[in-house]
Amino acid sequence: MEQAVCARQLVKSFNGNKAVDQLDLEIPRGAAWGFIGPSGAGKTTTIRLIMSILFPDSGALQVLGCASAFAARQRIGYLPEERGVYRKMRVDEFLLYLAQLRGVAEPLARQRAGKLLAQLGLVDVERKRCEDLSKGMLQRVQFVGAILHEPELLILDEPFSGLDPISVRTLKDMIRAERQRGATILFSTHVMAQAEELCDQVVMIHKGRKVLDESTQRLRRQFDQRRILFEPLDMQADVAPVRALPCVAALQINDNGYGNGYEARLREDCDAQAALQAIGAALPLVRLEFARRRLEDIFINLVGEDSLREHLQGAA
Ligand code: ADP
Repeated sequence: MEQAVCARQLVKSFNGNKAVDQLDLEIPRGAAWGFIGPSGAGKTTTIRLIMSILFPDSGALQVLGCASAFAARQRIGYLPEERGVYRKMRVDEFLLYLAQLRGVAEPLARQRAGKLLAQLGLVDVERKRCEDLSKGMLQRVQFVGAILHEPELLILDEPFSGLDPISVRTLKDMIRAERQRGATILFSTHVMAQAEELCDQVVMIHKGRKVLDESTQRLRRQFDQRRILFEPLDMQADVAPVRALPCVAALQINDNGYGNGYEARLREDCDAQAALQAIGAALPLVRLEFARRRLEDIFINLVGEDSLREHLQGAA
């Protein structure tokens, strides 16, 4: 399959420090890809290299079959990390200007802008100046600007930062809709659950290096065999029989968004499958499963807690 983005051995340094280090990427067309990693990991620098805003010290890059994003700029939508460019412009002027740069005629641009602004809950903002909007509103306006020309590749740098939960949900729906339209999506986030939810592949970056490039489907198949989640048929039922099992080291109520239930932590030396069966036999249940490993845990496991702490102290 032709790649939307293909990078080979990209390196970018600032003052002798490598912000991006030997990075390889192959993003297929039509895919949704997430860059994840802590603040200062190198996500924005990678995106700026892909966007030809920065140029690599070494390495090769292809975007939508072109030698650079600049050559394919009319086919790319981009939400930069820094918001609030063109602050003096009115919202409609700003959006029409962007549309015109990407070859969309004014009547069509106006029609699409009105529809998209309304979808994002932005009513009566067209005649306001960008500088008079809140940060969250401006971010949504910039998102409209990024998709107005129906790009083939949509690159979003921390699209959810600073948004309220309802706007986050609306934006997620719109990103999914863009994906369904056929666009390739690439976005960065330090909130790993967002990538897990929206992407079919995540690229974990730490200190400029790619530490994992894996499908979310495969990551979802990673279980922690020391943690068992279960939900009694009757939540009022006495769970003492589970607590008393020799394989159970600790038991706590667990309300993690999947519904109420309990989490049993197992002793290191016990057989996980036998423990699962023992818990199932201890009381009537509606749910019994090993806990999925969270992306955060996978990340920490890969880079090491000390390395992460050291990096975050450096970035602070
Ligand atoms: P992320 O997007 O993952 O938070 P960045 O790509 O912004 O990370 O930054 C990666 C590293 O490169 C950081 O150490 C940051 O301080 C450094 N960096 C980024 N841009 C510049 C720049 N223009 N000049 C100097 N250092 C920079």
